[in-house]
Amino acid sequence: MRYISTRGQSPPVTVATALLSGLAPDGGLYLPEVFPVAPDDLFEGVAGSDYPDLAGGILRLFLAGYTPEELTACINKAYGRNFDTPAVTPLTMVDGNLGFLELWHGPTAAFKDLALQLLPHLLAVAAAKAGQKEEIVLLVATSGDTGKAALEGFKDVPGTKVIVFFPEDGVSPVQKRQMVTQEGKNTFVVGVRGNFDQAQAGVKALLAAEDFRREMAAAGKRFSSANSINWGRLVPQVVYYFKAWGELLRQQILPPGETFNVVVPTGNFGNILAAYYGKKLGLPIHKLICASNRNNVLTDFIRTGEYNRNRRFYQTISPSMDILVSSNLERLLYELVGEDPEAVVAYMNQLRQAGSYRLTERERARLQEGFWAGFATEEETTAAIKEVYERYHYLIDPHTAVGYKVYQDYRTSTGDTRPAVIAATASPFKFNRGVATALFGAESAADADEFALMESLAEATGAPVPPGLAALKAKPVRHRRVIEPEAMAATVRAILDE
Ligand SMILES: *Cc1c(COP(=O)(O)O)cnc(C)c1O
Repeated sequence: MRYISTRGQSPPVTVATALLSGLAPDGGLYLPEVFPVAPDDLFEGVAGSDYPDLAGGILRLFLAGYTPEELTACINKAYGRNFDTPAVTPLTMVDGNLGFLELWHGPTAAFKDLALQLLPHLLAVAAAKAGQKEEIVLLVATSGDTGKAALEGFKDVPGTKVIVFFPEDGVSPVQKRQMVTQEGKNTFVVGVRGNFDQAQAGVKALLAAEDFRREMAAAGKRFSSANSINWGRLVPQVVYYFKAWGELLRQQILPPGETFNVVVPTGNFGNILAAYYGKKLGLPIHKLICASNRNNVLTDFIRTGEYNRNRRFYQTISPSMDILVSSNLERLLYELVGEDPEAVVAYMNQLRQAGSYRLTERERARLQEGFWAGFATEEETTAAIKEVYERYHYLIDPHTAVGYKVYQDYRTSTGDTRPAVIAATASPFKFNRGVATALFGAESAADADEFALMESLAEATGAPVPPGLAALKAKPVRHRRVIEPEAMAATVRAILDE
């Protein structure tokens, strides 16, 4: 199985190369040359399968090139012990046909763990396959969730180092504490006196600098990135949509042969694209419901066919979805235009030059066949947290709340009441201020610090705080570097010389 670029100007590569390089040299995203066909037994056993078995069945399809033994070893390291429930991604039904797929039972309490617990092991095998002897040095700029998930995933994985840059004053107190207390011999965390864009620009410049790369190669090191356009981050996310379907069958909520809806709080379009690939493999999904916050560029795109990033950027209480250019959308675009790389290149050029592009009528119709979209304002998000708690005694985080609100709108406007699964992308205890404000009111939440809010939320609701978050307050700080944005290259050198 070979992997090709959505832009068609890079040669096809092996799976190992696709995973190790992330982005194709022509700037496109890697895809399998031929989309796999799922064998019948993947569907037959799904209601009784445990998570590692399901993961094996699905990864095998997309990562041909890995032996079954290699995949099993990677899967066991990722999902064997690191999640706080054997179900890995439990489905909690709050009423007869609405369930929350809890994707936050991993070490960092956000859904990115599902991919980032696995990716380091996939990369280590890929490096061996590609005959690569260099140490892999992962550079990550983060606005919060990705950095911590990468640190936990790569912690003490042989042959790797991970260096995370975060904006010193631009992440939530819980997120910062999660990073500066990080354990592991190969993990490095650096605060940058600047915003996320500066940290991200610094990392991109380092990854692109030819002389720096040569210098590192001479020292036996090779840079890589683990951002969400890496094929190796997308594939593990397909698994939990099968798991959700299996649960609906097992709990007899969905009769065999019937379809269900999937709602995904969306930012970079990775998570919902994984659900789409699940549907393409044969999962009986009716609509993929794309939920955005105030940064509603995807809502407009799915409704009108025009992607237009020329708009104000808002900071919201669901920060992991504050994004105006959803990189993974390019993979869907490739299908909408009939797998024509030249058409993809033309749209991407328009996006770069004019900030917008518009699909043809036919492409728009194709998009709307599979997807429905909506968004939630800040007030609606807060109201959704309160409503779900009051109605179901179930606590959700602001990202998940965006999904809930948009799902309500979907039901109202379509009358479609078939069973639905909302992806719960983070633990409510990761975003205490937003959740506490919704439940207790802005005044009572205003004075308290995040850890005090965490405690009062747990006390008031009886919901368990995930172990990784509960332990945070007592953990010693292990990373104290804070630098100017200009010092990023020097800092990487210093770290690698240690
Ligand atoms: C990253 C993230 C999202 C957005 O996921 P995409 O795959 O980028 O669409 C949503 N919610 C949370 C909590 C996240 O961390």
